[in-house]
Amino acid sequence: MKQIDKTGQTSGLKIAGISLMLMMLTALAGWGIYAIPAPVVDRMLESDLRLRASQLNQHIASHLHDVEATFKHAIMDDHDQEFLELLPETSEIYRFKLFDRNGRVFWSTRAPDVGTTNTKPYFQEILATGGSYYKHEEKPIAEVSGLNHEVMAGSGKKTCHVAEIYTPVVIDGEFLGAIAFYSDITPQRDLFITRVRWSLAVLSGVSLLALTAVILVIYRTNRRQVRDLRARAAKERELMDDQLRLAREVRLLGELNEWLQSSRSLDELFDMVSRFMTHILPEAEGSVYVYSNSRDVLDGCASWNEGSHKAHIHPEGCWGLRRGRTYEFGASEIDFICEHAEPHDGRPYFCFPILAHGETVGLLHLRAHDGREEAFHDSKKLAQLCAEQVSMAIANVRMRDQLHDQSVRDPLTGLFNRRHMTETLRKSINRSQQNGSPISLIAVDVDHFKKFNDTHGHDAGDMVLRAVGSALEQGCDRDEIACRIGGEEFMLILPDNTPDDAMTRAEQVRQAVEGISVRYGEKSLPRITISVGVAHYPAHGVMPQDLMRSADDALYAAKDKGRNQVQVANFGAISASTAELSGQKTPETKGARKSAAT
Ligand code: GH3
Ligand code: MG
Ligand code: MG
Repeated sequence: MKQIDKTGQTSGLKIAGISLMLMMLTALAGWGIYAIPAPVVDRMLESDLRLRASQLNQHIASHLHDVEATFKHAIMDDHDQEFLELLPETSEIYRFKLFDRNGRVFWSTRAPDVGTTNTKPYFQEILATGGSYYKHEEKPIAEVSGLNHEVMAGSGKKTCHVAEIYTPVVIDGEFLGAIAFYSDITPQRDLFITRVRWSLAVLSGVSLLALTAVILVIYRTNRRQVRDLRARAAKERELMDDQLRLAREVRLLGELNEWLQSSRSLDELFDMVSRFMTHILPEAEGSVYVYSNSRDVLDGCASWNEGSHKAHIHPEGCWGLRRGRTYEFGASEIDFICEHAEPHDGRPYFCFPILAHGETVGLLHLRAHDGREEAFHDSKKLAQLCAEQVSMAIANVRMRDQLHDQSVRDPLTGLFNRRHMTETLRKSINRSQQNGSPISLIAVDVDHFKKFNDTHGHDAGDMVLRAVGSALEQGCDRDEIACRIGGEEFMLILPDNTPDDAMTRAEQVRQAVEGISVRYGEKSLPRITISVGVAHYPAHGVMPQDLMRSADDALYAAKDKGRNQVQVANFGAISASTAELSGQKTPETKGARKSAAT
């Protein structure tokens, strides 16, 4: 805006300057038209009259009977007199005089002049040396004798311009005298001055017009050039801005990529995405959703820049996810609003499906801030690049999670493996050493499983093992974990459980497995039982191996005592009161089951 004001001011100043200059030129031309013609015309008339006087001089000299006698002795015959008297009527002169060599007037059209002597210096200095003398005067009409005063009065003028031309009479190099001619040059002078003034006026007018036209053309050309230069400068500035913006975006994308690659969990990743997106696309609020494990809904994971996310959204409610490509609301004449974008206030938005290894894993949703719609549309490409970065990062985290899972989980049951169990037990023991909280370890082994396998096949055995794993996992609370440590042997780590609680939980697990019914093909497989051994930290060991061995010993004790029962390390069979409380079988019933099992 400032730039426009400045430009407007400059061009206004220029126009004022040009106008002032033209006005000055017009005034100068006016002065010239008034002042120049008179001296020029006078100069023209002078040379014309000098020539004319010289011709008249010769005309007189040639008509006089004896020039020498006339000028030396003032001798004239009648013919000479008559010729001289008629001369004013046949020429433009109204008066003339004849001088002898001493300046004395010996003949004049005005009688009183005869006998007077011209003693002016020019007579001897100019005329006597052969030159002519010219004199021009503006005189009141009344003072000029020999003119027709009535005619002059009719013209309305009070003055007239009179030219006096003195010409020498020289015969054979001898100066004999001079002739003075008086001529009224007023009409010619006025006429010429008027003509010259008109000519000058026309010339000045045309010149001024031409000058104005040239100035205008130059001014307009200049203005166009300045405008072109400004436009070019603005374009270059725009290009520069674009390049700077691009460089910034590339830098930010690089940084985003670097940070995202180093994120170790999805939560950390979404935290980074929120921070970066606020910075990279400040004109948009945003949110990110990821498919839940069941893949029927997407869970809201993060939102930023005043945006919000819903807890869950349905994939069929998003046009981006449904069509499998970026959806831009507000770019075409007909738009449909996504369900997850409700309530919607008309602001444009993007939905970028997040793809990882060819599979859609989530959604990046960006919505323009009020009044930033244009910048938002311009940022589509950048937003797309961000979505791709986020997609790659999610794919990486997922892959890392999968690899980690593969390294800590048992592929058949999905439970943690022995390595992870040992590690977790070590950590739990460390924590307990610090805060004194108890830990219980439960060892589980399927009874007579070899026989089961032999009877029903390995596949049926696998199905049963999966069902046992699932039952064990369901029996675990928050910090508790179930692991398959090998074959048909499992272990559960129960932190923060008292010995009594652990015994109850062990019995519940035993009952849960006993209650498993697995269908294999057309038939139901026979139910299986487990033997369970329980050990407590720190009573039965302070090292992971010691504790595991104690639990195993208790398990073998349970096997020895007839299987399908719970035994605690070093304590023998579970007390009757606990068994009653939890509905566990007494040693008598166990004996009966063993014989049934064998
Ligand atoms: P006990 O009651 O004394 O534990 O008898 P048992 O037959 O269960 O014990 P044993 O250690 O003799 O046999 C374990 C059997 O478990 C051997 C093997 O057939 C079976 N087994 C181990 N791993 C798997 C597995 O991954 N899948 C299947 N189907 N069977 C397995
Ligand atoms: Mg075994
Ligand atoms: Mg077994």
